[in-house]
Amino acid sequence: MNVCKVNCDASVFENEQLAGFGCIIRDSMGIWIQGCSVSIPLFSILCCELHAIWRGLVMAWDCECKEVICETDNLDVFLLVSRGATRMIRNDSDLLDKIKEMLQCNWTTTLVLIQRTANRAADLMAKTAVFNKQRLKQENISGSEREREMETGKGTVKAVALIVGDNNVKGTTHVSGRITGLSPGLHGFHIHALGDTTNGCNSTGPHFNPLNKHHGAPADHHRHAGDLGNILAGPDGVAEISITDSQIPLSGVHSILGRAVVVHADPDDLGRGGHELSKTTGNAGARVGCGIIGLQSSV
Ligand SMILES: [Zn+2]
Repeated sequence: MNVCKVNCDASVFENEQLAGFGCIIRDSMGIWIQGCSVSIPLFSILCCELHAIWRGLVMAWDCECKEVICETDNLDVFLLVSRGATRMIRNDSDLLDKIKEMLQCNWTTTLVLIQRTANRAADLMAKTAVFNKQRLKQENISGSEREREMETGKGTVKAVALIVGDNNVKGTTHVSGRITGLSPGLHGFHIHALGDTTNGCNSTGPHFNPLNKHHGAPADHHRHAGDLGNILAGPDGVAEISITDSQIPLSGVHSILGRAVVVHADPDDLGRGGHELSKTTGNAGARVGCGIIGLQSSV
């Protein structure tokens, strides 16, 4: 990976004593490489913003970026990191040291101040982290019984995703489904980490991978949880889907609810293609259709 753009943002909810940050790494084509959505204890806004920058840089380094443009919409952070401003440094100096350490690595880094509106996706991911944390807190109080029911299989949980895409790609999938408008042949079919389609299917993040594994085939033990392999479209462009999979639960900490299902233009090589993208995406190409996975109506 040569040039990467990193967007970072933090969000602080003082009333709820919660904070979070989001980071997004894109390649030079604007394709999402990785993202994070992390809740943290309530610190100062500046401290949360520094957390975001630091994590973004670490992720970019792990993605082997050689030239990084790191974007923030926070003026204080920008001045502090890039101009060596010294005001407000007290508890935050450790973080600042960590950031400076990252900046001195063997790569080129540029910190850029951007408009808040241009940082919308990172902002959404920061808020998502806070909302998820909030929801967990609430569920711990009121939802434990319901969760137990789901885990023991007494409750029936069904989900549905309406897939919408370019070139008439559309369809409905429950455990089974039907997608039309595809080119004939195999198409990578995955659960992606984010239920975010603000920038089309490109906003849905990488393959859902809660256990930090390499990309693989559905039958592999070591695979992304979201790796559902390929679907096969016939000469009429229709793919009938019937998938049973144990790694995509609809409840619990690894639930796929609120994430996205994505259909790709090309076949998924199941991690075995030897391409530089095989171990991350199966080299399945563009995202031609996607839908957010939500709870299904019982009627
Ligand atoms: Zn994968």
